[in-house]
Amino acid sequence: MKYLLDDLNPKQQEAAQTLKGPVLVIAGAGSGKTRTLTYRTANLIQQGVKPANILTVTFTNRAADDMQAKIAQLVGNEILAEMNLGTFHSICLKILRENLTKINRMEGCLIYDTTDSVAIIEDIIFEFGLEETEYDPALIFNIISKAKMELVKPTNLTKNYAKAGKQGSEHFYQTAARIYREYERVLANNNSFDFNDLIKKTIELFETDQQLLQKYQQKFCYIQVDEYQDVNHSQYKLISLLAKPQNNIFVVGDDWQGIYGFRGADIGNILEFEHDYPAARVIKLERNYRSSNNIIESSNQLINNNTQNKVKAAWTRADDGAPIFLARADSPLVEAKYVCKRINHLVDFYNYKFSDIAVLCRSHFQSMQLQNQLPKFRIPHQLVGGVSFFDRQEIRYFVNYLKLLVNPNDKLALKRLFRIEVHGVGEILLSEINKYARENKMEITDVFESPTVVKGIGNNKAANIIEFQRRVIDTIYDLREQKMGMYQKALQLYEEVAFADNVLAELDNPAEREKYINMFLEDIANFQRYHPGRGLYDYLLLNKLIADKDLADSDQEDQVKIMTAHAAKGLEFPVVFIIAAEEEVFPHLKSLEEEAAGRNPYAVEEERRLFYVAMTRAEKILFISFAHRRVQNNDGQYKQLLPSRFLSELPAERLDFTSVESKKGGSGIQLRKNVQII
Ligand code: ATP
Ligand code: MG
Repeated sequence: MKYLLDDLNPKQQEAAQTLKGPVLVIAGAGSGKTRTLTYRTANLIQQGVKPANILTVTFTNRAADDMQAKIAQLVGNEILAEMNLGTFHSICLKILRENLTKINRMEGCLIYDTTDSVAIIEDIIFEFGLEETEYDPALIFNIISKAKMELVKPTNLTKNYAKAGKQGSEHFYQTAARIYREYERVLANNNSFDFNDLIKKTIELFETDQQLLQKYQQKFCYIQVDEYQDVNHSQYKLISLLAKPQNNIFVVGDDWQGIYGFRGADIGNILEFEHDYPAARVIKLERNYRSSNNIIESSNQLINNNTQNKVKAAWTRADDGAPIFLARADSPLVEAKYVCKRINHLVDFYNYKFSDIAVLCRSHFQSMQLQNQLPKFRIPHQLVGGVSFFDRQEIRYFVNYLKLLVNPNDKLALKRLFRIEVHGVGEILLSEINKYARENKMEITDVFESPTVVKGIGNNKAANIIEFQRRVIDTIYDLREQKMGMYQKALQLYEEVAFADNVLAELDNPAEREKYINMFLEDIANFQRYHPGRGLYDYLLLNKLIADKDLADSDQEDQVKIMTAHAAKGLEFPVVFIIAAEEEVFPHLKSLEEEAAGRNPYAVEEERRLFYVAMTRAEKILFISFAHRRVQNNDGQYKQLLPSRFLSELPAERLDFTSVESKKGGSGIQLRKNVQII
């Protein structure tokens, strides 16, 4: 008979069989960390542990889905409903929803994304009479986010940051703290969370209610975390709170792949694990199952240029595989055409499918040329994590109506509807309406009933506001009371507020936008079909949580995937192209500046780790290309660029170098050295 763990090598088995106490599995990319964690979960269940007693944290929802599917395949589908497997955000949301009233929120509470949070901050800056040039809302949001991730309260903001020699004066941070405090008040008032709250509030909940903490500690007897190198302080804290007192905590990771330092992740957490848990068993996996020797050796040599590394077990494989194909191009256009030709070549002559291929870039901006060229070469492609379906303007607009439907306190949604729908009443008057409501202890919608009470609103403007109140707000209030399926509700709302005539007609391309709205409504119908008993509220929450997935996402289709190196974390593809490997792009200009200014001596090391992540996604063939000039931002200006320093850190004997140029007078490209690839 075949045993479950026969699918693992001895080291992996050792990890999957160590069920008690703290365990750290630390090993390079492709060594089977995620696989080991998956099998360990199955093993726990086979040993009689209830799925509900295992908490498993993955970095993305996609990774959670994949892992869940694999575990079900190993031990049966019936365990699925009971599993606690997901991202930090989704797990915390589940805990918070079970305890809403304890954290000053109520049913209907929704999550604000970055755009929402920045809009709130803009409003606060306006209300405080501050200048956006001095207090950039996006920057303030970053400061607040970072503070929340580090569990720093408004009162400590100035102390913690201004003194730490960070940019900005003490006065600046005092004001930022004032905005932070007001921001928290607005969120509570609007019955909403932001993403960082999900973790922060869960910790606060546990810290103020020991009994509750104990309940969850007993529930989650076994804790497992994938990609542990990228946990931030608040996530680290949460895990250590929950793990006590048994400390059955199993974490896997690779310090060489820590790439979210810019978002508060701290590779110190994985490096300190043995210090935090002196009883920890440390297991190093020794074999790479993913990549060819050329890819392993080259990426190892690259990462050895970092100083902040933990030593890994060395490994090699017998077959070197194809060399790494390095290409220099005259321009981004030439580079894009080169990539397209290589892709078609692989598909036509080497039996690869389009879906075997991924193109990775530092940020989406660099893949524009390629996105234009791919259709010309008849290459189907999917942009992963670009402007998502749910970020489309008409969808975002329509979602505001639904948000107000499920959460009557969502004043941000209300204000947005006002801005979308009511013409001729600007920001100043809107803020006057707000002020009037506040001073007279009224709801803002009460003021909409008789708007002329506000100074500056004459009869014409008042008529517009009253019409808005009747058609939109009253409709939403009526619908809220009605018992009907969520799809019918959304559809009726769409029709009764006359969204097509009043909103879509005002935008460009209304017909196309209507198509997207229909897709969106269809998605709601599907959700209703597959999740009976759940409502619009669950739908909206879920959509926010799974922002790293997309309606257009489908693994079934045979498409080349384009994504950022960050988004590729944990994934693998037979063929990988890394494009735009240039100084100031990859490593990113910001990291060079941070390092030069002495703000972060490890900024370029993080870029190198990201490059390492990108390279190690490849199983068989890796292409890396760079161009001599590139447009770097929206100013449209070309800038001369040098090849990335990372390229000179790769072993020359494992590279196959080509130069590609545009053919004079022709449309094609020419390989200076005609490479016989693979
Ligand atoms: P990363 O650091 O990139 O997340 P990882 O260490 O999590 O990588 P996995 O994704 O778990 O690595 O494994 C890499 C590949 O190797 C997967 O396709 C996996 O199925 C395969 N693999 C790992 N271990 C074994 C094994 N013992 N036998 C066969 N295949 C394996
Ligand atoms: Mg992994």
